[in-house]
Amino acid sequence: MHKVVIIGSGCAGWTAALYTARANLQPLVLMGAQPGGLLTTTSIVENFPGFPEGVDGFELMSRMQKQAERFGAKKSFGMVEKVDFSKRPFELTVDGENILAETVIIATGASHKHLDVPGETLLETKGVTYCATCDGALPIFRNQSLVVVGGGDSACEEALYLTRFGKEIFLVHRRDSLRASKIMAERVHAHKTIKPVWDSVVTEVLDAKQDKVTGVRLKNLKTNAESVLSCAGVFIAIGHSPNTGIFKGQIEMDANGFIVPKKGTMTNVPGVFVAGDCADHVYRQAITAAGMGCAAAIDAERFLAARNE
Ligand code: NAP
Repeated sequence: MHKVVIIGSGCAGWTAALYTARANLQPLVLMGAQPGGLLTTTSIVENFPGFPEGVDGFELMSRMQKQAERFGAKKSFGMVEKVDFSKRPFELTVDGENILAETVIIATGASHKHLDVPGETLLETKGVTYCATCDGALPIFRNQSLVVVGGGDSACEEALYLTRFGKEIFLVHRRDSLRASKIMAERVHAHKTIKPVWDSVVTEVLDAKQDKVTGVRLKNLKTNAESVLSCAGVFIAIGHSPNTGIFKGQIEMDANGFIVPKKGTMTNVPGVFVAGDCADHVYRQAITAAGMGCAAAIDAERFLAARNE
C-alpha cells in the first residue's frame, strides 16, 4: 500500500514527489508514456526562475527527478490502464498489476493536438512532426522549405528553432496576428527566414501517394482561395489536449477534458488531487505546473494527517 501515488512525471509530478518525499510519505511516481513530460521535448527554457541563462528542458526535468529521488521518491515506468476511485484505498492497474494508494495525485499533463486533415497521420514520421526539437535536425529537413502550423508560443518556438536547419520557414496561422507572447512574436517577426502565411489553414498534407511530405494544401479563410505550398516538413504546434481519458466517469472534468479541482487541488473524489496541465487550460507554464504540484502535495499530506494515516 502506498500513501501517495503520483501519476505523471512532468513538472507537476516531480514537484509533488519532492514535497511528499520530504514529508516522509515515500511517494511512487508512475512515469507514463513520456517520462519527464512535454518539457523534455523543448529546447531552452528561458522562463523558469533560477536559470538566468536558460536551461535545457530535458536537463531541467532530470534535475527535478534527481531532487525528488534524493529524498526517497520512487519511480515506476508503468502505464496506468485503469483506476478505481470508488473506494479507498484507491486501486490503480499498471501494466496488468494492481497498486493500492491512500491518496493519488493526477499529474498526467497534456498531449499535442492534431490537425485531423488528410495525410497528417499517414505521413507522421515521414515529414509530419509535433516536435521541432526532437526532429528538426533530421537530414530530410536540412536546407528545405518547412511549414510550422499555429500562432502560439509553441509555434513561434518551433519556427525559431527550425531556422537553424531549414532554408525558409512558413508559419501558417489561421488569423492575422499571433497569439504568442510579445517577446516570442517579436523574435519571429524580426527573423528574415520566417515567413508568416496569415488567415490560412492546412486542409491536406501532401503527398500520401509518394509516402513523404512534399507540401501542404492551404485555404485562405478570408478569400477561400486554395493553394499548394511546397515543403519537406510540417511541424504542427496548435496546442494541447489533457491526458485524462482514463479518469472519465470517475473524476469531474470540463467539456474539453480538463479536470476541475473542487477545493484547493482536491478533485470531486476526496483523496484524489490534481496538478499541472491536465487541470489548467489558462496558464500552462512549467512554473505554474510545478506550483500546483507543490500545492497538491501539501493537500495530500494534510488529507492524510487529518486521518492520522
Ligand atoms: P496555444 O497558446 O493554445 O496556441 C495554439 C495556437 O494554435 C493558436 O494560435 C491557435 O489559433 C492555433 N490553433 C489551435 N487549433 C488549431 C487548428 N485546429 N488549426 C489551426 N490552428 C489552430 O498553445 P501553445 O502555443 O502550445 O502554448 C500553450 C501554452 O504554453 C501557452 O500558455 C504558452 O504561453 C506556453 N508556452 C510558452 C513557451 C515559452 O514561453 N517559451 C513556449 C511554448 C509554450 P488561435 O490563435 O486562432 O486560437
